[in-house]
Amino acid sequence: MPVRARLFAALLLSAAVSAALAAPRPEAEAAARTLQPRAVEWRRDLHAHPELGNQETRTAAKVAEHLRALGLEPRTGIGPTGVVAVLKGARPGPRIALRADMDALPVTEQTGLPFASTATATYRGQPVGVMHACGHDMHVAILMGVAEALAGMRDELAGEVVFVFQPAEEGPPEPGETFGARRMLDEGAFAGGEPDAILGLHVWAGLHTGQIGFRSGPSLASADEWSLTVTGRQTHGSRPWDGVDPITVGAQILLATQSMIARQVNIVNAPVVLTAGQFQSGVRFNIIPDDARLVGTLRTYDPAVREDVIARFERIATDYAHAAGASAELQVVNNAPATINDPELARRVLPSLQAAVGAEHVVEMPLQTIAEDFSQFANAVPGAYFFVGTTPQGRDPATMPINHSPHYAPDEAALEIGMRAMLQAALDLLDGEPRRE
Ligand SMILES: [Zn+2]
Ligand SMILES: [Zn+2]
Repeated sequence: MPVRARLFAALLLSAAVSAALAAPRPEAEAAARTLQPRAVEWRRDLHAHPELGNQETRTAAKVAEHLRALGLEPRTGIGPTGVVAVLKGARPGPRIALRADMDALPVTEQTGLPFASTATATYRGQPVGVMHACGHDMHVAILMGVAEALAGMRDELAGEVVFVFQPAEEGPPEPGETFGARRMLDEGAFAGGEPDAILGLHVWAGLHTGQIGFRSGPSLASADEWSLTVTGRQTHGSRPWDGVDPITVGAQILLATQSMIARQVNIVNAPVVLTAGQFQSGVRFNIIPDDARLVGTLRTYDPAVREDVIARFERIATDYAHAAGASAELQVVNNAPATINDPELARRVLPSLQAAVGAEHVVEMPLQTIAEDFSQFANAVPGAYFFVGTTPQGRDPATMPINHSPHYAPDEAALEIGMRAMLQAALDLLDGEPRRE
């Protein structure tokens, strides 16, 4: 469905969903409660041993060992450290996938927790600390728990569950590399058969523990990395007319992009953010250099809007450079498409989330300008992605250290909430329409 139609469907949906209500599943609640102490252990072990993207070998080995102990036959080494295992129920039914990302970030931990990471690594040539600063250790522990709970119910299950443990969500180890979900798909993550739906979650400091955030339709942004090179002609800083100043042209192009978004793009339904994070040029105060380089990010929610903004950006760059006698080259690399929760799947998943934590604890998430490569899976099959709050009661989510902070310390009680919500949603989907082969 085109994104505009999806958006419209999502609007209709938000009015209709509140009518439907799933019943809380005592087996999901009991399993999550029973597994919670072990999920805490798994999480602390993973937290103390974080690994950067595509280096999650220890993490993947722990996951595979756990899945084997449950009687599953995990496939390992997918893209390059991903793990996939299929749990077959006793009866025919839908095939659903559940996904957790496994990678940590080049961040030096400052939480002071007893199980804090002291790991170090080399990231793009630089020595760095390594930390699960985005909470993916929580995601892995939650999915290990969900796998154990569902494996224990297999004699009563209809359908199949595909567990997907994914590397490198945070981006490619080297720029331009295929990574994460895209690479797992390319290397046969769904080789056993495409699932009918995929679910994913993220721990989130912006919500209280016990809360879940969800929305239908576009949810997280598409993230592009752009780089603009403006080539002029070097000359003395006191005599600009003898050369072509690439710094002024770069500044004009950057400002023109901001006017373009404000004046030329309909941002009502699908917002756009275009940011420059680097502007590098020159070596000395009185030399106009040959060239200038700007690097930044573009965030969008609609593929058509994204294409349009890139085309306008290219035109601005070319025409402003031409007007000044310079030249400009723009390169855009997409790191993740927009995460769009399938409206039909969202209609089915929302009541499950409400049943798991209580309808009053499920909040409609605002659009997030961050990105998530879960979108690669959700572009392949219908996907739904929700947020699990990690700020303890009595603390203000607005002032807590957020994901990617060296101080991010999610409330471990969120493990139980995550397991319960994922289990309820998975079991409700498995009890739905059997798959049409
Ligand atoms: Zn992150
Ligand atoms: Zn993350």
